[in-house]
Amino acid sequence: MQTHFTPEQLADPDTAQSNQILRACVHCGFCTATCPTYQILGDELDSPRGRIYLIKDMLENNRVPDAKTVKHIDRCLSCLACMTTCPSGVHYMHLVDHARAYINERYKRPLGDRALRWMLARILPYPTRFRLALLGAKAARPFARLMPDARLRAMLEMAPKRIPPVSRNDDPQTHPARGTRRKRVALMTGCAQKALNTDINDATIRLLTRLGCDVVVARGAGCCGALVHHMGKTSESHAAAAQNIRAWGAEMDADGLDAIVINTSGCGTTVKDYGHMFREDPLAEQAARISSITMDISELLMQLDMPESAPRSQVVAYHAACSLQHGQQIKTYPKDLLRRAGFTVTEPAESHLCCGSAGTYNLMQPEISQQLKARKVKALEARAPDIIAAGNIGCMMQIGSGTHIPIVHTVELLDWATGGPLPPALADMPNRAAGA
Ligand code: SF4
Ligand code: SF4
Repeated sequence: MQTHFTPEQLADPDTAQSNQILRACVHCGFCTATCPTYQILGDELDSPRGRIYLIKDMLENNRVPDAKTVKHIDRCLSCLACMTTCPSGVHYMHLVDHARAYINERYKRPLGDRALRWMLARILPYPTRFRLALLGAKAARPFARLMPDARLRAMLEMAPKRIPPVSRNDDPQTHPARGTRRKRVALMTGCAQKALNTDINDATIRLLTRLGCDVVVARGAGCCGALVHHMGKTSESHAAAAQNIRAWGAEMDADGLDAIVINTSGCGTTVKDYGHMFREDPLAEQAARISSITMDISELLMQLDMPESAPRSQVVAYHAACSLQHGQQIKTYPKDLLRRAGFTVTEPAESHLCCGSAGTYNLMQPEISQQLKARKVKALEARAPDIIAAGNIGCMMQIGSGTHIPIVHTVELLDWATGGPLPPALADMPNRAAGA
């Protein structure tokens, strides 16, 4: 695609990068076939190619973003299915990140929208605040239908029925390896996940220590910054990321780390991008060092050569989170590991399509999100599985709110199959006995 930026515009590193990305696009339109919003809305402006044109026009003309452009960029899930499909290697993620930051700086959103974004940015990344908000939402849930705004209704309806107590496993400490130590890894315990579901980190720690890892929960590490990054709030996302870079950097310098392991793939995609996010920052080198050893939990488990278990009777439908399959291009490891643990693994049709969770998308764009959820649940239920497994808490909450089939994190099943307890979410499953 031809672009027409001036030398002055290209002096800005973000614009120079977007120029390169735009020039790689040959407007072939292959990406439209796998874009969830185009599939649902059928509008070219809700496809990757349409959004690329809107972003090009906005950036080239130094335009104050208009409501139409913002609407179509806001509707993008950042699922990155378009990046998997694109034959020309267009880095849509960095382009839309730039567009979102540009919009955040220059566009004045309606008051309700601003208030909602302000509230989400101040609550979700902070586990204690989020836990209190969840308790409030749980109490207000019966009145959800009375809410005048669809987004407020969605928030109340998404509140889980059970809010777990704080897990002390998530406090800064080192969980020692059982037996001979093979690796020393830092576990990112996250932010929203700690308030929504403590079983995932507990299972991860049990599994990794059983496989010979010292598991460090680093003091000072917290939210990866992704939730606000996707709102275009660059200074807030960089502040959160810088805190992690310093916390994990201190651990690397003190006792060394073989990996930073992440069990929420949305966060993993962002931490792997820290090197790029900080490329013009004094923390650039440290950020690149952190990104270079960051792994999804499934990557680390493949390295650790998790032992094979006896076959089990349960059929597991594996839901591939977009951030894992498109953001990190990890497609086979979770399924390989589940098979190695003895489960029969099945996959839904259209497994490349997003479930509609996408960070805060299900709260900000509830209508589109609900349609994607219904489509995903239907495809998963068509496989008649005993269990649904996913590698991202956002997908688990989204899909879990639309089906009675129990949904767990992949690590909970791997932990169970290798000697851990039955995942609490499976307590009512009929054929839950090991190997039954
Ligand atoms: S598939 Fe790639 S090159 Fe083709 S229109 Fe989409 S982004 Fe552009
Ligand atoms: S990130 Fe997802 S929703 Fe956004 S343009 Fe790409 S495929 Fe479509």
